[in-house]
Amino acid sequence: MQTIDNFNFENKKALIRVDFNVPLDAEFNVTDTTRIEAAKPSIIKVLEDGGSCVLMSHLGRPKGQKNESMSLQHILTVASDIIGVQLKFVEDCVGEKAEKAVAELAPGEVLLLENLRFYAEEEKGDEHFAEQLSKLGDIYINDAFGTAHRAHASTTIVANYFSGNKCFGYLLAKEIDSIDKVMKSGEKPVTAILGGAKVSSKITIIENILDKINHLIIGGGMTYTFIKAQGGQIGSSICEDDKQQLALDILNKAKEKGVEVHLPVDVIAADKFDNDANKQTVAVDEIQDGWQGLDVGPESMDRFKQVIKLSKTILWNGPVGVFEMESFNKGTIAIGNAIDEATKEGAFSLVGGGDSVAAVKQFGFEDKVSYVSTGGGAMLESLEGKTLPGIAAILK
Ligand code: AMP
Repeated sequence: MQTIDNFNFENKKALIRVDFNVPLDAEFNVTDTTRIEAAKPSIIKVLEDGGSCVLMSHLGRPKGQKNESMSLQHILTVASDIIGVQLKFVEDCVGEKAEKAVAELAPGEVLLLENLRFYAEEEKGDEHFAEQLSKLGDIYINDAFGTAHRAHASTTIVANYFSGNKCFGYLLAKEIDSIDKVMKSGEKPVTAILGGAKVSSKITIIENILDKINHLIIGGGMTYTFIKAQGGQIGSSICEDDKQQLALDILNKAKEKGVEVHLPVDVIAADKFDNDANKQTVAVDEIQDGWQGLDVGPESMDRFKQVIKLSKTILWNGPVGVFEMESFNKGTIAIGNAIDEATKEGAFSLVGGGDSVAAVKQFGFEDKVSYVSTGGGAMLESLEGKTLPGIAAILK
């Protein structure tokens, strides 16, 4: 894998695709700087080598129109503080102005281009636009995992113009490495914990990972489609009736492949979808009408913990209960604690995709797992076994 460490950037201009798509408040202050901080190591490496950086990113969804409220100029001060260098800014990302600003860039300097998505050509993956971008650097670095599943001009097409002179930045390399650790070279036993609301949104992931894992823990709203398909009584729990056969097929396939599936045995059932609902702990397949399962019960938690504790590689995607409500967050917290313990014992743990990242952050597990993926959609597509265009373009 060609990473930034394979290059020396002395007197070179690095064109870096970063993900500075950060949230802004009504006064255009950056409210979460995680993504800017994540891009820092690659920028520093180029500068320490004696090179300069040309940073390109999108911000928001301007849909191909110039829109001052989504100008990257809003993040200039914060990004300069974080990176420790006063960033220069140019009001365009292609054309004469941008090329002039790049020509004037000296080693040690960092230039931020204006929002790529002010041009519709960016998301269309337009060749000519990508060619114009390619004039803005000697070496192309992709360090934006969040957009690696998109064949956009700056994430994929531009790489075609840098034959031999392209590589992954530290952040993207770490994402790829973490996913490979689970999907390709995971030390056994490998356990996947899948939760979330629906079977339908996780089906491709389940099918893809069955060949790679030893244990599959299923929790969350998905549970009830499996339980009903097996003849259980699920009351008013969330269920995709048309996915029942699919659920049985998954269980059969898992059996054929020797994967142990662990479904909840008990649940916290509620009489409404509300934090203040009446609650009772019941067997997962004996939920009365008018009641719905909103979290896993204590017996299930114990069983899940045992499996996780003995695992050497762990993948977690999706909460096992309605973690947004305090009354139903215990199962998700128990999973986090068990992963924390296993990680301390030497397991590799990867958390990624959608709401599991929010849950991990909310309950303070961020620094206790081995890696939390920064890319929602890109992570899910990786787990589904898809080749991400942004990654393929560097490897080509
Ligand atoms: P996903 O985006 O597919 O990972 O789904 C995450 C959502 O699933 C969260 O908002 C949870 O509140 C929800 N969820 C988890 N367990 C249940 C459940 N038993 N019933 C309804 N929703 C659930």
